[in-house]
Amino acid sequence: MNAAETGQSDSASMAQTIYTEDRRVACDGGGGALGHPQVWLTLGGDGEVTCPYCSRLFVAAKPPSED
Ligand SMILES: [Zn+2]
Repeated sequence: MNAAETGQSDSASMAQTIYTEDRRVACDGGGGALGHPQVWLTLGGDGEVTCPYCSRLFVAAKPPSED
């Protein structure tokens, strides 16, 4: 008898993933009561950066050009 799987659709994953074409992104948490002061974040070499305030993950929409 299998135990029922727990934790289905837990609301723990409030953080969003946001795709951006810019290396620098501004995040204010979406504004409102859940927002935070606007901060500028720069995508890292892996094309990702996580907002330290609201844990939103910003991901480069396209790979960085070799330039
Ligand atoms: Zn944020």
